[in-house]
Amino acid sequence: MSFELNKILRTCIKNLKPYSSARDEFTGKADVYLDANENPFNTGLNRYPDPYQEDLKAKISKVKNIKSNRIILGNGSDEIIDLIFRAFCEPGLDEVICLPPTYGMYQVSADINNVGIKKVLLTPDFEIDEIALEKAIQPNTKIIWFCSPNNPSGNTLDPEVIKKITNSFNGIIVVDEAYIDFSSSQSWIDYLDFHKNLIIMQTFSKAWGLAGLRLGMGFASPEIISILNKIKPPYNINTLTQEKASEAIDNYEEKNIQVDFILAERKFLAEELQKISAVKHIYPSDANFLLIKIDHAAEIYGQLVTKSIIVRNRSTVALCESCLRITVGKPEENKILLAAIQSVVKKK
Ligand SMILES: *Cc1c(COP(=O)(O)O)cnc(C)c1O
Repeated sequence: MSFELNKILRTCIKNLKPYSSARDEFTGKADVYLDANENPFNTGLNRYPDPYQEDLKAKISKVKNIKSNRIILGNGSDEIIDLIFRAFCEPGLDEVICLPPTYGMYQVSADINNVGIKKVLLTPDFEIDEIALEKAIQPNTKIIWFCSPNNPSGNTLDPEVIKKITNSFNGIIVVDEAYIDFSSSQSWIDYLDFHKNLIIMQTFSKAWGLAGLRLGMGFASPEIISILNKIKPPYNINTLTQEKASEAIDNYEEKNIQVDFILAERKFLAEELQKISAVKHIYPSDANFLLIKIDHAAEIYGQLVTKSIIVRNRSTVALCESCLRITVGKPEENKILLAAIQSVVKKK
C-alpha cells in the first residue's frame, strides 16, 4: 500500500497556519496571567480550559494504553467526524464511502461539507460486501467509514476484511468503536502501529454513561492527530467536561460494573423477546441495544409511544425492514417494555 498523509491532505489544511491562542503561546505555570483577557475574579471557570487537555489525555492514555500524542478529543465523536471530513475531503471533488445501515452522522457530515458519499450496503446479515466495496473505491475516495460494533445492527464487522481493505486503501480508514465496551472483540487501538491510515473513534456517551458531557475520543498516528489538532476549535473541550471525564476515569471500575450489568440485562431482554411470537428475529448484538424484526413494527412503535415507551423505529432503513432498535434499560424499564409489547401484540 502507498498511503502518504501529505498526498491525501487538503492543500488548504496542509498550508494552514492555525489560530494561536494565549494558552498556546505560553504553556508553563505562572503567578499572574494577563494574557487572555479573562476576568481575574475566580468563579472556578474564569480561565480558558487547557486547549490540548493534557491532564485528561494522560489519564486516557493509561486506561487505553496509548500515548497522549495519539489522542484527539472532540465535543462528542460527532465533532471528530466533522474534523476528519475537513482535513481530507475537498468539497465538491472528493468522496467517502459508508456502509448502510449505519450511523447517520457520516452522511450528515458529508452533506454539510459538500462531500460525495457512496453507499455500499452491508449484506443481509450485516457483514461487509467486500467485492462491492472494492469496486466502489475511486481515486477521489478519501475516507471509508466502518462502524463496529455497527449501529443499528449491533454486530461486530469482520476484522479480517477491515484489515485487508486498510492495507490496500490509500485513503483514511475510520473505525467507529462507540460500542466497543459492550463487545468481547479486541479494539483496533491495538493495531494502530501497523496501519498509518487508521483512525479509531470511541466516546464517553455510551458505556461511560456521559452522553450529556459531549466527549469523543479519536486515536491515530501522531501525524494525523497533529493535523486534526490544527483544525479543531482551540478550546473545544470545556473545563467542566475535562474535570468530569477525569473523575469518571478515576472511577473506572464503576463503568465496568455497569457494562456487566447491561450485558446481563441484554441477555435477559433477548430471551424474553424470543418468547413473543410476533418477534421474528433478534439480531446478535455486541452493543447496548437489540435490533429485532417484529410483525407490524411501525404500528407497534406507535402503540408503545402511546404507552410512554420510546424505542427506535428503524423499519424504513435499508435492510432493517420491520425492525425496531431497543436500547437496554434498567431491569424495571425492560420489564415494562416487555409487558407493553406483549399487550399490544395480543390485541392484534
Ligand atoms: C452514539 C454513537 C456515537 C456517539 O457520538 P457522540 O457524539 O460521542 O455522542 C458515535 N458513533 C456511533 C456509531 C454511535 O452510535
